[in-house]
Amino acid sequence: MNNNNSNRNKKTSSRPPIFMFIIISVIATVLLNTVLGFLMSPSKEQITYDEFLAMVEDNKVEEVSIENSQFVIYAKPEKKEDKKENASIFGETGMLGGGMFAMPGTEEQKIYYTGYLNDERLFDKLDSKGVKYSTPVEVNNPVVNFILTWILPLAFMYIIIVIFTKLLSKKMGGGGGIMGIGQSNAKMYNIENKTGVTFKDVAGQEEAKESLNEIVDFLHNPGKYTAIGAKQPKGALLVGPPGTGKTLLAKAVAGEANVPFFSLSGSEFVEMFVGVGASRVRDLFKQANAKAPCIIFIDEVDAIGKSRDNQMSTNDEREQTLNQLLSEMDGFDTSKGLVVLAATNRPEILDKALLRPGRFDRRIIVEKPDLKGREDILKVHIKNVVISPDIDLHAMALATSGAVGADLANMVNEAALRAVRMGRKEVLQEDLMDSVEVIIAGKEKKDRILSAEEKRIVAFHEVGHALATALQKNTQPVQKITIVPRTMGALGYTMQMPDKEEKYLNNKNELLDQITVFLAGRAAEEIVFDTQTTGASNDIERATEMARQMVTMYGMSDTFGLVGLESIEHRYLDGRAVSHCSEETKTAIDNEIVKIMKERYEIAKKLLTDNRDALDKISEFLIEKETITGDEFMEIFNKVNEPEIIPEDTEES
Ligand code: ADP
Ligand code: MG
Ligand code: ZN
Repeated sequence: MNNNNSNRNKKTSSRPPIFMFIIISVIATVLLNTVLGFLMSPSKEQITYDEFLAMVEDNKVEEVSIENSQFVIYAKPEKKEDKKENASIFGETGMLGGGMFAMPGTEEQKIYYTGYLNDERLFDKLDSKGVKYSTPVEVNNPVVNFILTWILPLAFMYIIIVIFTKLLSKKMGGGGGIMGIGQSNAKMYNIENKTGVTFKDVAGQEEAKESLNEIVDFLHNPGKYTAIGAKQPKGALLVGPPGTGKTLLAKAVAGEANVPFFSLSGSEFVEMFVGVGASRVRDLFKQANAKAPCIIFIDEVDAIGKSRDNQMSTNDEREQTLNQLLSEMDGFDTSKGLVVLAATNRPEILDKALLRPGRFDRRIIVEKPDLKGREDILKVHIKNVVISPDIDLHAMALATSGAVGADLANMVNEAALRAVRMGRKEVLQEDLMDSVEVIIAGKEKKDRILSAEEKRIVAFHEVGHALATALQKNTQPVQKITIVPRTMGALGYTMQMPDKEEKYLNNKNELLDQITVFLAGRAAEEIVFDTQTTGASNDIERATEMARQMVTMYGMSDTFGLVGLESIEHRYLDGRAVSHCSEETKTAIDNEIVKIMKERYEIAKKLLTDNRDALDKISEFLIEKETITGDEFMEIFNKVNEPEIIPEDTEES
């Protein structure tokens, strides 16, 4: 489908096309009539008038009826020696007419027919032989007959099909109809005349706001740009991980410019039926054009904009939708103040045609917020919450490295919910910090009772991590240790957190020390209980991952030096690593990783054996208290290690 037939499609697009139903009904009725006629009308045999008279004479006839200028003769159900002569299965009236109104009595009864003759004597003869005769009036009336056989079933069929279609389309989410003829549902996109969101509601993301400001300015005052001959970009693509505020930014643009906001999700475009998505795009642009200046926002544009080549199976529907989008983007006139914004977290899979100048030629990166960004976002969301005056959002921002705006909004809400649960009227710092843990590790699972032995192992395991942290230079301080199980699977955990600043760079020693910290949990199990539990699996996974990245991506191994052996794909999503090397190299990489892990595990074991006293003391304390703070931990640690160095708090690199 393309622009040429847009008018025609538009007309039929609002409702399922009636003529389609009629055609289907007619076909169904003809089929039904034929089949029923075939099934219901008994097979009749043609005989001559003489044979008929002879039959009457021989008392073989039970009844005669006169239908459609024929005598239809019902033989007495007796001996069946009469031989057929002209067997014709279809009889003469292959339709409901004869069959429906003159049902044969039993299966045994033979039916014959012959041409009508106006023979007065016949009826005397029939009378004398006691043969009944009749004329079914209704059937012989051609109008009634026609209505009964055609109009009624047709109407009936039509109703059934319409109902069936309605049900079907409801089941499919209200979107397409049964025919898949370009129909669009006006509710497929949202129109907000006022989004009510402004740049103030979007914290951090200063660079993104700056780029978008130009669009806002243009929407306010297009004349300024057109006067000088400058063309405003037609579209901008917001790129970034989920939850960083892309949708929010797009709404803020509309809010700042005070124009209507048309939004639609890419996945809603792509339907089961070919052509539906394309007609939706067409519809959307048409509506938006009428309301310009305005913003069209296409969320998850990757759902339609997926690169067209390089695919195992082609998807006609998506291609058509994409083509329609491309042609609409070429077609509209920017001077009216129509701007298309789109969001994606997989920019690398987008079709190149979408990205070329004149379409989404602007790319606005919406990154995960940094420390300051997180603090600002928290400030925005805490505004609507009653808080105690001593709330420290900076501390919370420090604890939430890696969290995006959506996470932070969620955490603030969790904290408020917790305050209500605790029967308080305001949110305290402890609510905030607890909600951070809930988001990271899951809720506390008080009903999971660990056996005394398991509890001991978990405690020593966690203190192993904590001690390795305290005993090494290049690590972040311990914030909290707990052995209360969490819903997301952890039986206990040790929380580390930077004290003042977030780090953007990590050096090799920091990474190695962190691997040691990961492995120290298992090391403690082995030293104290001489056992190996499944509790270390997540530690091992993360340590291995870190070692692998050191070797393959950060150029931190002696064997390979500065060779990029892997790269990250979909970096805004899960960030899977893709290997670029030969099989032999892969083996060598694995060997290198094994070497690193072994070395670090030995170091972890040595650290803990040398500090067995601290390990035991802190673990016993933890078993008793279940949760201890970083300060409590350091207190015992320092007491045990009186003469040793205590420089843990003040390292920097
Ligand atoms: P995305 O579209 O990037 O996946 P959204 O814009 O839908 O993310 O963000 C989801 C929610 O997270 C927003 O409604 C908002 O409450 C919160 N949020 C995300 N980023 C920010 C931010 N920079 N400032 C304030 N709130 C944010
Ligand atoms: Mg979004
Ligand atoms: Zn562990």
